[in-house]
Amino acid sequence: MIDKRKFYINGKWVDPISTNDFEVINPSNESPYACISLGSKKDVDAAVDAAKKAFTEWSQIDKKAKIFLLEKLLKIYKYRWDEITNTMSEEMGAPIDWSSAAQTQSGFDHINDFIKRLKEFEFENKFHEKSNNYIIYEPIGVCGLITPWNWPINQITLKVIPALASGCTMILKPSEIAPLSGMLFAEMIDEAGFPSGVFNLVNGDGAGVGTDLSCHTDIDMISFTGSTRAGKLISKNAANNIKRVCLELGGKGGNIIFADSHPQAVREGVRNIMSNSGQSCDAPTRMLVEKSIYNRAIQEASDEANNIKVDLASKEGDHIGPVISKKQYDKIIDLIKSGIEDGATLIAGGAEKPNGLEKGYFIKPTIFTNVSNDMRIAKEEIFGPVLSIIPFENEQEAISIVNDTSYGLGNYVQTQDMEKAKRVAKKFRSGGVYINGKSADPGTPFGGYRQSGNGREGGKWGLEEYLEVKTICGWK
Ligand code: NAD
Repeated sequence: MIDKRKFYINGKWVDPISTNDFEVINPSNESPYACISLGSKKDVDAAVDAAKKAFTEWSQIDKKAKIFLLEKLLKIYKYRWDEITNTMSEEMGAPIDWSSAAQTQSGFDHINDFIKRLKEFEFENKFHEKSNNYIIYEPIGVCGLITPWNWPINQITLKVIPALASGCTMILKPSEIAPLSGMLFAEMIDEAGFPSGVFNLVNGDGAGVGTDLSCHTDIDMISFTGSTRAGKLISKNAANNIKRVCLELGGKGGNIIFADSHPQAVREGVRNIMSNSGQSCDAPTRMLVEKSIYNRAIQEASDEANNIKVDLASKEGDHIGPVISKKQYDKIIDLIKSGIEDGATLIAGGAEKPNGLEKGYFIKPTIFTNVSNDMRIAKEEIFGPVLSIIPFENEQEAISIVNDTSYGLGNYVQTQDMEKAKRVAKKFRSGGVYINGKSADPGTPFGGYRQSGNGREGGKWGLEEYLEVKTICGWK
């Protein structure tokens, strides 16, 4: 059993104030393999105290010094690449090759891009038009950063790097069920030589450390990625001292496939939702297919799902791994059963385990057709490898089905008619739109409308989330 029971507070690995062991489970074999501690209010207080003291100097530090440390961190990240990849693969079940190519790569891209944005960003030197009012940007203060398990390093770097770059100090609480990549990241911060107290890590669960951070009156901002359920609780808890709250929450993306789409559009859509075993907030979980190509689309979708291999995360090659936990597994299976009970047609996968993978939280790539948008499988975020296919007659109907959800994170459209694609993209009520399978470039803003959250991560928008704006009148 790997012993990872310490927290990183004020530049040192320290024991928790009271013992509260928690086992980390490998989802490929259901075996506990590491032990962390769940922290208490006293651990959070110690970390906040360190961050508060460190803020005085770090908030004033020269931009060049920050760039130097971030570039050092990037080098360390690069040479510890395989360790990061293996850690995420073991803790959350990402297949090893994909863990490197997508999960580890995403962290590298974010660090790299934020260094570039920091170099370009002008914290000062802005007059309001021709007046004597001088506008400056200042770090908001001490930040609580709460991250999920599905893209662990992606989410950590999307928060920690802009917080560091803007001059904030912070306490990171990674997901308790995939905490080891976050702890490895803390080791890298230590190795890079950031001043003590600037970055702190306290492990814990939502009801404990997550709530203590959200309620803490010495914390100025919470940045959270996770479920809409937790986002609502955090917002309420953070209201006591009017913290800034930035939320990246769930989604229920629609993918409109028009009859004039590229021939691979259906297959791409299936691959896209099944990737990461369906555990991506912006996954295209509802595929809307124009009626004239519906039968062909069903055939292609079931072929594609049956071609996707499911296997252990440690195996090389192209496949999907398990879902994260018993709790998620049970929830997904329950939703698959609800789809059958509600009268949708199951054309691939189902509630049984894949052959030869009885141990581990494995689920077959599952597809339902003849889904209507009021079924649970079309409304709720499943967060597993499950796709719902919904037929539509015309553009207007397709757009209104896609927008008929409480979420608004990422939506997709496939057509070779670019005028139509742009028209549809503008009508989607979501923070992101993907035309013909094109993905987002580094440095673009990411976030949601409605119950998918508020604020934007990435690029200059991600940096600005951690800044206050000050107007100084009479500067000249
Ligand atoms: P979760 O909300 O249960 O947990 C996420 C994190 O929040 C964990 O660190 C957890 O300990 C903490 N937490 C839980 N309850 C809390 C509370 N009451 N107060 C404070 N912290 C609390 O979500 P999860 O199951 O780990 O992650 C999956 C969810 O995250 C999905 O809904 C997914 O869509 C969403 N997600 C969104 C994005 C995005 O950028 N929009 C990215 C990844 C995941």
